[in-house]
Amino acid sequence: MSDIILHKGREKSVFRRHPWIFSGGIARVNGNPQGGEIVTVRAENGKFLARGYWNQRSQIQVRILTWDDEPIDHNWWRKMFTRAINGRKHITSTAYRLINAESDFLAGLIVDKYGDWLVLQALTLAIDLIKKDLAELLMELTGARGVYERSDVDVRGKEGLKSSVGVLAGEAPPNPIIVDEGVKLAVDVYGGHKTGTYLDQRQNRALVGELIYSQPHLTTVLNLFSYTGGFSIHALHHPQAYVVNVDASADALMLARENMRLNRIDEARAEYIQADVFDDLRARMTANELYDVVILDPPKFAHAQSQVEKAARGYKDINLNAFKLVKSGGYLFTFSCSGAINADLFQKIVFGALEDSGREAQVIRVLGASDDHPVALSFPEGAYLKGLMLRVY
Ligand code: SAH
Repeated sequence: MSDIILHKGREKSVFRRHPWIFSGGIARVNGNPQGGEIVTVRAENGKFLARGYWNQRSQIQVRILTWDDEPIDHNWWRKMFTRAINGRKHITSTAYRLINAESDFLAGLIVDKYGDWLVLQALTLAIDLIKKDLAELLMELTGARGVYERSDVDVRGKEGLKSSVGVLAGEAPPNPIIVDEGVKLAVDVYGGHKTGTYLDQRQNRALVGELIYSQPHLTTVLNLFSYTGGFSIHALHHPQAYVVNVDASADALMLARENMRLNRIDEARAEYIQADVFDDLRARMTANELYDVVILDPPKFAHAQSQVEKAARGYKDINLNAFKLVKSGGYLFTFSCSGAINADLFQKIVFGALEDSGREAQVIRVLGASDDHPVALSFPEGAYLKGLMLRVY
C-alpha cells in the first residue's frame, strides 16, 4: 500500500477528522498508487494518521475512510453500512437517505432508499470502481430488490468521471415508485431530480402539514418551486386547505397532479402554474394576492463561492416578494440549499428582505435537512440545507 506523507503542520485537519486532503497538503507519495486505490496517510515523521482512497486527478487527492489502522476490506464496508442502516431504523417513512457520504464517514457515496429499491450515487473514482460490489452488499444488508445508479452529477467531472446511470444489482425499479412519508408520493428515480426526489425536505414537509392541520384558519398555501408538490400534499391533509403550486418544470407538475390522485385529494383543491417563480411572484404582488402560508424552496443559486453575491441578490428578491404575499399572522417557510451560503448569511439575507418589505417576522423554528441527512460535526460542509419557519405580521 502506498503512503501519502503530509507537509509538517498539515496533519491538524486529519486530527480534527476532516475527511479531505488537498494536493497542497501533500509533501510526497511513497509508492505509485493508481486512481481509486486505498492509501495510508502519514505525518512528516512517518506516524500513521489515517487511511483513505487516492485520486491524483482530483483537487481532493485523498478522501479519508478511517482514522484507525485497520484494513478497508469487505468487512469494513459491511461494518460501516450496518452502522448507517442502524442509524435509520427509527424512520417510519418508506423513503429516506441511507448513506450520506462524508457525513456517514463514507466519502463519495450516497444511497437513498425508495421502498424496496435503492438508488446509488458514486461521486468519486474510488467508489465508482467498486460500486457493483457495494450494490450487492447493500442488497444483502437491506433486502432491497434492486439498486439503481443515478451518478449523473457534475461533480464527477472533477474526479475524471462521466455520468453513469442504470441498474447496478437486482431488478430494475418501477416508474414511478410509490413511497409513503405519511402521505404517498410518486417518485421517478429514472428522471427525477437528485436520486428521484428531495428527501432532505421530508421532515419540513411534515412540519408544514402539522402546522396547517393544527391551525385550521390557515387554509391558503402558495408552494413556490413546488417540484412534485410534496409540501402541498402534506398541507392538503387539512380538508379546507387550498394550494397553488408554482414550478418551471412541466414534468414535476405532472407528477404533482399524480400525487393528488394517489392521495385521493379532490383536484379542485390545487392549481398548477408552470412559470418562473421570479416573474410569478411579481405578478401575484401586483394583483395584491395574500396567502396564509408561503413556501419558498428554490434550487441551489450558488454553486461556488464566486457566485455567492449574485445568489444572495436572488434570494433577497424572492424573499422580499414572498414576505409581501403573506397574510398578517401567516407563515413563511424559506429555504436555501446552497452550501456556499451558511445559515448565518442566509438569515441576514432574509432579514434584509424583511426590512425592505416593511413587514415584521418572528423565527418560529430554525430548519435543516431531515434526520436521515446527518451532518458530521467534523464536516460542516455537509450542512447545505437551511431554512426558517417565520411568522409574519
Ligand atoms: N420543495 C420541493 C423541492 C423543490 S426543488 C420538494 O419538497 O420536493 C426546486 C424546484 O425549483 C425544482 O422543481 C425546479 O424545477 C424548480 N425551479 C428551478 N428554477 C425555477 C424557476 N426559476 N422558477 C420556477 N421553478 C424553478
